[in-house]
Amino acid sequence: MDNPIIQTENLKVIYNRGKENEVRSLFDVSVKIYPKEYVIIYGPSGCGKSTLLYSMSGLQPPTEGDVIIKTKSISKMTKKEIVELHQVGIGMVFQAFYLIPSLDILENVCLPKVFRGESKNKRKEEGIKLLHRFGVVEQSKKFPSQLSGGQKQRVSIARSLINNPEVIFADEPVGNLDSESSENVMRILKELNEIDEKTIVLVTHNAEHLHFADRIIYMKDGKVFKEEVNKEKRPPEAIKNISNVKYEELSNELKLLMRTFKNLSLKQVNSLLIPFKSEQLMHHVLSELNQEQIQTASSYLKEFLFKDINIDVLSKSLDLDYEKGGAGWNRQRVSAFIGRVQHIIRLAEIISVGPDSSSAQALSDYLTELFGLKFDQKRQNRFISFLRSRIKNKIDRFELQKSLDISELLGGLGLYKNKAEKISREVEIIMLMKYSQY
Ligand code: ADP
Ligand code: MG
Repeated sequence: MDNPIIQTENLKVIYNRGKENEVRSLFDVSVKIYPKEYVIIYGPSGCGKSTLLYSMSGLQPPTEGDVIIKTKSISKMTKKEIVELHQVGIGMVFQAFYLIPSLDILENVCLPKVFRGESKNKRKEEGIKLLHRFGVVEQSKKFPSQLSGGQKQRVSIARSLINNPEVIFADEPVGNLDSESSENVMRILKELNEIDEKTIVLVTHNAEHLHFADRIIYMKDGKVFKEEVNKEKRPPEAIKNISNVKYEELSNELKLLMRTFKNLSLKQVNSLLIPFKSEQLMHHVLSELNQEQIQTASSYLKEFLFKDINIDVLSKSLDLDYEKGGAGWNRQRVSAFIGRVQHIIRLAEIISVGPDSSSAQALSDYLTELFGLKFDQKRQNRFISFLRSRIKNKIDRFELQKSLDISELLGGLGLYKNKAEKISREVEIIMLMKYSQY
């Protein structure tokens, strides 16, 4: 499971070699596709995307280098194995559909099964199922020329799936479609990846599609020049190997940055740099603590909630220097934090004992002090009754917030929106702490 399902090694493809019209289409392309990944190969027209896809499927023999499918080199496969690969291992979807005009839709979809020698009825049953799934079952008796582009592409996806391959290759599958049909086809491919767990390799020159992929391989002039990861599905071992850059070989700029950003790993530098930057920037702007200080603290807090450590150990661990395994906070921050946590936990306990008026009263007292609320008796009573409704799960957070926000005349408390939001959020965190499955 840890091995790539498809891999190219220093792949080189030269068309018309040695002739006047020689085209060097791929130079030393080494890519690895892992099971269940959705990979997009992206680049401008003519950069070699299709050539790479056809090489990976065994349709285009390499001039140099190798293609390995599940640990077996294509060059070492027998003719029979290659045929088998195309019939059941890989499903292909093309921009031009390649449906056979003289066969009806169902026959087109079932065609790859004909060569597998399955009974006609069994074939049709499968075909109908797939046509149904992609919303084109009504077209099954029609001929390709009677269908719209979007319908034809859905038929060709059905055809690619008929022998249930593990991998789908799609070469600009929406290149000829209007935007609505494109969206539809792209959604189907995404679903095949997420629900059916098909490995998908899709070629496109359209940047609007990139968000669909788990990983994007950028190509230019026959070379891969960059990779981007949206969702990491490769096994940890595989990523470690990619990040196998020696520390000494890193640029000085990066080394200096790593002194401060201790979580900045080589893996991130290769593929997760933007998410890392975004997280750091977020922490920096929103909080005075850095990411390590928050992460360490949060792991101690988890231990506390699991009751593996008590509040004193939590407090000491937050205070302890980062180098000594603590969170490296200062004392003031620790005591303010512990104070809040204790209050929240205690209220959660009070509420969980019973949703009676005294628990609503206690919650009201806590919130009144925390937010400096000044209510007369009437508003105070209303406040308590709103809180009681929330504790009893008769209303949700938004209804509570609205009750706090709308004017007194309309039966609310007439607080500022901002305050109503903060109070209801505080109540939610207490409700979350109280929540238990038992
Ligand atoms: P892309 O799919 O990114 O548009 P291709 O892989 O189709 O790029 O083509 C890469 C280069 O190889 C282009 O310069 C193209 O003209 C050339 N090429 C592709 N197929 C052939 C072929 N069968 N014979 C000669 N040149 C080709
Ligand atoms: Mg192409």
